[in-house]
Amino acid sequence: MAKLILILGDQLSPALASLRDVGPDDLILLAEVNAEAHYVKHHQLKIVLIFSAMRHFAQVLRDQGFQVHYIDYLQQTPSLYDAVAQTFSANPQLQSLVVTEAAEYRLQQEFTTFEARLQKPVTILEDDRFIADHSMFQRWAHGRTQFRMEYFYREMRRYTGLLMEGSQPCGGQWNYDADNRRQCPSDVIAPAPLWQQPDAITQQVIELVKTEFADHMGDATTFQYAVTGKAARSAFLHFLEQQLPQFGDYQDAMRTNDTFLFHSVCSMYLNIGLLDARWMCQKVDQAWRQNKVPLNAAEGFIRQIIGWREYVRGLYWLLMPDYQQRNYLETKTPLPSFYWHGKTQMHCMQQAIADTINHAYSHHIHRLMITGNFALIAGLDVQEVSDWYLSVYADAFEWVELPNTLGMALFADGGVLASKPYAASGNYIQRMSNYCQSCRYNVKLTVGDKACPFNALYWDFLARNENKLGGNARLQLAYQQWRRKNEETQQQILAKAADLLIHLEQL
Ligand SMILES: Cc1cc2nc3c(=O)[nH]c(=O)nc-3n(C[C@H](O)[C@H](O)[C@H](O)COP(=O)(O)OP(=O)(O)OC[C@H]3O[C@@H](n4cnc5c(N)ncnc54)[C@H](O)[C@@H]3O)c2cc1C
Ligand code: SF4
Repeated sequence: MAKLILILGDQLSPALASLRDVGPDDLILLAEVNAEAHYVKHHQLKIVLIFSAMRHFAQVLRDQGFQVHYIDYLQQTPSLYDAVAQTFSANPQLQSLVVTEAAEYRLQQEFTTFEARLQKPVTILEDDRFIADHSMFQRWAHGRTQFRMEYFYREMRRYTGLLMEGSQPCGGQWNYDADNRRQCPSDVIAPAPLWQQPDAITQQVIELVKTEFADHMGDATTFQYAVTGKAARSAFLHFLEQQLPQFGDYQDAMRTNDTFLFHSVCSMYLNIGLLDARWMCQKVDQAWRQNKVPLNAAEGFIRQIIGWREYVRGLYWLLMPDYQQRNYLETKTPLPSFYWHGKTQMHCMQQAIADTINHAYSHHIHRLMITGNFALIAGLDVQEVSDWYLSVYADAFEWVELPNTLGMALFADGGVLASKPYAASGNYIQRMSNYCQSCRYNVKLTVGDKACPFNALYWDFLARNENKLGGNARLQLAYQQWRRKNEETQQQILAKAADLLIHLEQL
């Protein structure tokens, strides 16, 4: 019986479960549909990446002899369901539908309605591109009142054997996080990532995006990311050789006009299926065993993939759909418009947002400790902040974006994902970057016209949320420092913060 196989824009992996059993009469469907292109206002570069990678993947499948039906954006197909229904109508020989489960809750829910609506058998296969399957994560989470990435990560190290000597972690320590926090001196030059010149297919997509998504963030004509598995693997191997040796030391560092530093810029490839997580981690493990990279770099990188990436995915599926509604700190301040246009006098924010606009990318510490930290301490609306992160990054898909934004950056889940809010004053930013040297604001000041906004907002955040956070063991030192200030100083700081919050747009 001939079947229809639907492949999503983030399922562009030859080893995908639904591509393992394709017969000569089966038809593979890829579709650029309105609902997916518009559920948030995606960055132009993100749309180019996904549409171009889909078109290249379709070409690879055709070259391998498969029958492929491709619906492009200009056909204005409303949804994936419509794309599937139309394809069945035009191909009455097709008897059933096969899909690999969607990575996002929203789509997976929609898939479960397909069988009744289509009146055809629908098979939904598990997505085994992730290392921990749903049942493994559920077993790990079962009975725990608190989830902590570190314990999950150790289990994943044992399970995969990565950086292990028998049952023990290589080097005797599970985690070299403390060795990942060096400042990056100005004489350390970070090699550029490996860029790709757009080919004819990508050029066509760039033209489409320029016309159809003209009012979205970014400039499609600057696109230079990989759009095939082969090019993405080359980009990763380039990182392995050029950046990974120093990735460990400078993982948390930030520098003016240095967008990528020693980061891999691979999340967007990994999330749409152009790279395979196991392959990447094995390459890193091998590089360490061959003495090509230090342990703090290899461990730091592998922790991000088999630790954080798998952990947030597990939590997402464990806690959705309620998770999406959480707003523990009851924040509701609207997102200031500079998040969209980047025009702010706060140099750190300007840099992080400029990277976002120019590249649909910023590295983790920008997302967490600059734009995320500001959103946290200013009490910005959780939904608006989440929508922003989901729109502006090329790697943004809800399963990974939501736990990172709502849980890690905004503490809106009340501590499910992180044991304390990642709130920081300007001090942290000064320590980890050179931004404060060229800022209109003075990082040493908390009140007055020149004071760094992060300072008063940080103290105000603690004071404002004392009833909810005052008992958090990891915040005791911060609260002690706050309580040690005399009342007059506290009042001045709170007044400054109140003024900042009224004038966020002018910062
Ligand atoms: C508020 C916020 C929102 C985020 N939204 C996304 C998102 O939409 N999509 C996304 O892929 N990542 C997201 N992250 C995680 C992380 O910032 C990005 O994965 C990383 O910056 C991508 O750049 P890179 O490939 O150069 O990463 P590297 O620093 O080179 O890290 C290597 C890889 O580890 C993985 N990784 C690292 N940290 C995390 C993490 N916290 N969660 C999941 N995977 C991780 C990524 O796959 C990444 O490619 C978010 C983080 C925060 C704080
Ligand atoms: S002074 Fe404050 S606002 Fe300016 S760069 Fe430093 S931390 Fe950012």
